[in-house]
Amino acid sequence: MDADTTSGGAPGEGRRPCPEGDEMPMTATRTAFRTCPLCEAGCGLEIGVAGSNGDETVTRIRGDRADVFSHGFICPKGSALKHLHEDPDWLRAPMVKRNDRFVEVTWDEAFAEIARRLPGVVAEHGRDATAIYVGNPNAHSLAGLLYLRPLLRALGTPNVFSASTIDQRPKEVASGLMFGGSLTVPVPDVDRTDFLLMLGANPFASNGSLATAPDWPGRIKALVARGGSLVVVDPRRSRTAEEATQHLAIRPGADAFLLMALVNVLAADDLVDTGAAAEYLAGIDEVLALAEPFTPEAVAPVTGLDPDVIRRLAHDLAAAPTACVYGRIGTTTARFGTIASWLVDVLNALTGNLDRVGGAMFTRAAAGASNTRGKPRHGRGVTIHRRHSRVRGLGETFGELPASCLAEEIDTPGEGQVRALITVAGNPVLSTPNSGRLDAALATLDLYVAVDPYINETTRHADVILPPPTALQKSHYDVALLQLALRNVANYSPAVLPLDDGQLDEWRILARLALVAQGAEADADPAVVDDLMVQTLVGAAVGAEDGPVAGRDPAEILAALGDRTGPERLLDLMLRTGPYGDGFGADPDGLTLDALVANPHGIDLGPLEPRLPEVLRTPSGMVELAPEPIVADVARLREALDAPTDGMSLIGRRDLRSNNSWMHNVEVLVKGKPRCTLHVHPDDATRLGLIDGESAAVTSRTGKVLVPIEVTDAIRPGVVSIPHGWGHDVDGVELSVASRYAGVNSNLLADEELLDPLSGNAVFNGIPVEVAPA
Ligand code: SF4
Repeated sequence: MDADTTSGGAPGEGRRPCPEGDEMPMTATRTAFRTCPLCEAGCGLEIGVAGSNGDETVTRIRGDRADVFSHGFICPKGSALKHLHEDPDWLRAPMVKRNDRFVEVTWDEAFAEIARRLPGVVAEHGRDATAIYVGNPNAHSLAGLLYLRPLLRALGTPNVFSASTIDQRPKEVASGLMFGGSLTVPVPDVDRTDFLLMLGANPFASNGSLATAPDWPGRIKALVARGGSLVVVDPRRSRTAEEATQHLAIRPGADAFLLMALVNVLAADDLVDTGAAAEYLAGIDEVLALAEPFTPEAVAPVTGLDPDVIRRLAHDLAAAPTACVYGRIGTTTARFGTIASWLVDVLNALTGNLDRVGGAMFTRAAAGASNTRGKPRHGRGVTIHRRHSRVRGLGETFGELPASCLAEEIDTPGEGQVRALITVAGNPVLSTPNSGRLDAALATLDLYVAVDPYINETTRHADVILPPPTALQKSHYDVALLQLALRNVANYSPAVLPLDDGQLDEWRILARLALVAQGAEADADPAVVDDLMVQTLVGAAVGAEDGPVAGRDPAEILAALGDRTGPERLLDLMLRTGPYGDGFGADPDGLTLDALVANPHGIDLGPLEPRLPEVLRTPSGMVELAPEPIVADVARLREALDAPTDGMSLIGRRDLRSNNSWMHNVEVLVKGKPRCTLHVHPDDATRLGLIDGESAAVTSRTGKVLVPIEVTDAIRPGVVSIPHGWGHDVDGVELSVASRYAGVNSNLLADEELLDPLSGNAVFNGIPVEVAPA
């Protein structure tokens, strides 16, 4: 689709002019350092900048060799930040849809449009008729993470959705129930382990997830080079599996069965040895009893793995001097996602590898971690399913409903039907199950406001688009991801480039939107929200029972924060009251934002160290190995032991040059051999009459796509794979590059009815499909 035919403005209006040529033949006049925000690896970047007086250009981006964590590592996506910044399709001014066409407006006009329409929806239908969807990029945004909270509070809706329930929510639920905090997730101590059992992860393409570390490929190669073992469990012989000492091509979605069988063998063969963590573990006997029916022979049909191989794996795991089990997206986007996530750490505990060097360890983050606040071993833990969705009665987790029910909450009539939606940095039309239904539902809303830089598959339905600045125009600190780092580090980056005329800081956009959502005038000052937030956080810190500033005068703390505003003031407060902080004078050598500013390559806070029991925030003060909700769900796993194993299953896959749908408008990343293809095993290709390079029709309960065939023995027979995040050739999208490399939307095939019931997470690993020549 030609972008200009759907835009109300002149070509390029509200956007940055296209730079002349790809490479700038300029010499840098200054060098900036910045953490890459594009994935969880958090690599340090060295950025050359030329020009002056607000007319500056990025000349080059490369890895920052002095970065305390990444030591110069960078992947192809990192250097593409320059291209993202210069992308002519990145909106530089707000857009309002008038007569079905987007027109550029001022910020005042954009907020006035929202202030004119949102109160009407609330007055007529109540706050239950509003909803918000928060996309994955917010996890990588300092302002996004901090200023979404006031927006959620102001909106006051029960309909909160996020990308977490199409991704890692099962791990958060399992960790919350076991350790007392959703981000108290043990991470694999890859650099010091002897044995890494990895399920459903491909860090050679994704660079790790829920385990923050740059250069996963280098770390894995080092593990194998020092004589360690890497066992990769994946239906596909991924790039990571190619490096493994053993690859187990399991059937899609069967990880929970394999993990349960490993527990079974540990118990049956008297291999359980919980090591130093023993005194903090509750529920061991119950777990071992639960595993009794899951013998290697019993799980062989459903996993597709030889019982002897499973038995050997359990023995190898138990015999390794140190070992860790690590599960990622393949384990969480599955029917038994929470059970699999739980069993990963059950196995770490039963083999004595929980919380020990070389095992699965807890990060001690410098800012924002709930497991460094309050009294150790005194917590409320987590409670799930405190309320349920209107249409299907799906349980809430951590204040959110499953993203899989967003469409039905919009298109199902009745009291509480969603009429107004806000999305923040998400593209759920490409990323949520049965996305065709959501696509249709979005077109029926009374009001849709998107905080997003692009007119994409989702935001083309918006009435108002509020574009944030580019990554290079924002400051950065990984509040969430550094809580999951493989080493304790802290790294702050100021904005590399100033805002262009007419752009607005991301935090101001979110704060102003919060004010309008609360009923304030369109021109309300976002500083009101900022001041309230800092006062609230200071109040909580001085009012806490424990902590570095407990009992002190809030006015003194506020004064000590100085003249900073926005995310920097909040971050300074979090750092200074955190576990390494200066405590506002209590430890003069402690961490502050000033210290991070003075150390642009980051500050190394040391290797991970054992944290049991102080990391625990469960009500019992113990590691709960047998949490009641998960124990109850094991009956479902037992029933599925005998489920039929015929038919074709669809899985996704990652590519180093792609990250969800974010990077598809960057020519240097998407050009070349098409990546959105159907991987199919040669045996299946022969049986089904599929020919390499031709097109296949893939059909599920919810949809059908036509996709180019790529025959490869890297995939298990009976399984096909299509990467997600593609499908850019729909009317109204204004992504000039992505539209030329459109691919197909695999989530037209994902079924919103398939869920992990405890977490509400969608199932993408093992979607039943039929495949035929197109
Ligand atoms: S691995 Fe690539 S995308 Fe991820 S943080 Fe590093 S440079 Fe950025």
